[in-house]
Amino acid sequence: MNASIPATDLPAVVARLRAHFAEGRTKPLAWRRAQLAALRALLTEQAEAFQQALHADLGKSAAEAYRTEIGFTLNELDHTVAHLEEWLAPKPAGVPGVFQPAEARVVRDPLGVVLIIGPWNYPLQLALAPLVGALAAGNTAVVKPSELAPQTSAALARLLPRYLDPEAVTVVEGGVPETTELLEQRFDHIFYTGNGTVGRIVMAAAARHLTPVTLELGGKSPVVVEPGADLEVTARRLAQGKFLNAGQTCVAPDYVLAVGEAATALEPHLVAAVRELYGEDPREAAYGRIVNERHFDRLTALLDHGRLVIGGEHDRADRYLAPTVLADVPPDAPVMQAEIFGPILPIIAVPDLDAAIAFINERDKPLALYAFTPSEQTKRRLTEETSSGALSFGLPVSHLAMPELPFGGVGESGMGRYHGAYSLETFSHAKAVVDKPLD
Ligand code: NAD
Repeated sequence: MNASIPATDLPAVVARLRAHFAEGRTKPLAWRRAQLAALRALLTEQAEAFQQALHADLGKSAAEAYRTEIGFTLNELDHTVAHLEEWLAPKPAGVPGVFQPAEARVVRDPLGVVLIIGPWNYPLQLALAPLVGALAAGNTAVVKPSELAPQTSAALARLLPRYLDPEAVTVVEGGVPETTELLEQRFDHIFYTGNGTVGRIVMAAAARHLTPVTLELGGKSPVVVEPGADLEVTARRLAQGKFLNAGQTCVAPDYVLAVGEAATALEPHLVAAVRELYGEDPREAAYGRIVNERHFDRLTALLDHGRLVIGGEHDRADRYLAPTVLADVPPDAPVMQAEIFGPILPIIAVPDLDAAIAFINERDKPLALYAFTPSEQTKRRLTEETSSGALSFGLPVSHLAMPELPFGGVGESGMGRYHGAYSLETFSHAKAVVDKPLD
């Protein structure tokens, strides 16, 4: 817990942020721009401190930490700054003849005090990228980083107030008790990233105050691979997406549905791709670690079903689990029961595309669906016959880093969306304004 903020003070923290918002201090475009510039300075001047924290928490290499956390957030921030004025400009709306003469427009109102609850897997990105949207929309905010990435949480609590308006943004550290206390307070929006079980707790707490929520959740994101795809390229991109952050990525490919002969044909290419990315001993490479022992034990218990294609080596003391591929995995194996969220890639063989589509549609709607196929008809069928937060052909994970695309889930993988203009929509109210002359 942030030593300066005991849980009993949280009502006062929220009240102060609310008072600051009520004074109108966060509304001018100049204030929003200044906060975004300060956030930019924080990320660039303190990049090394964050890289060290991310290495301590998750074994992230400095390069990966920069690319997926610091650089990612800067990219989101720069895109927002470049378009902010345009997004905030009132949008003229048509007026039916019966009401003429009159003007109508849509104005973006800030909401007030927003709560951002982040997870441990990208603890910097997933605390600060939503904050970019919250500040751009003119809100005050409480940021609650994950206690499971304690170094990054501490760095945020220490450094953020040195850059941002401390009366507008407060970092509250802590775990379940502090978050529970925070959720007692009335917020104007709650933005939660994490698992669906806690997502339900957040939504139930929000309902008491009629507070809208964005739930960025996870789930099992499938990958369809068809035999006609270039399997060398497929395996390389699959391995890159899967083993990034040791598989602890919400949009990581969770499992492969390999159609027909692609199942066995893909195996040697995945072996080659893992070796190409991480060498003979991934432990010595720029490769992450499992966040804690609990998750390590959960993951190693999943290795018992299926045939090991590559990997499987593990060391609890180092929280190391090698990039692992399993073949001949029965659909009812433990590894297929819940989101893997670690570096294990099961391959499930299916006879044809119909079977792959049926497999996907029998399960929860995924956060992402990926496919490697040369067939435009397959692409069309997957687009029309399945539902997922995102759909990407030939490129797993990267849609996340395209700020013009909405990012969010559907069904069990979440509700609401953000990034770029979608963040501004999430963190503001589209107010209808009508103006009819009195004469
Ligand atoms: P986590 O354990 O860090 O929990 C997330 C947040 O919830 C933390 O801030 C934590 O303090 C808080 N929390 C935990 N228990 C709580 C409770 N009982 N009441 C109130 N708050 C509580 O992270 P996690 O849930 O293990 O994260 C992993 C999940 O998040 C995976 O399912 C992953 O797919 C998903 N995820 C989704 C996205 C996305 O953008 N859609 C991104 C990253 C992770």
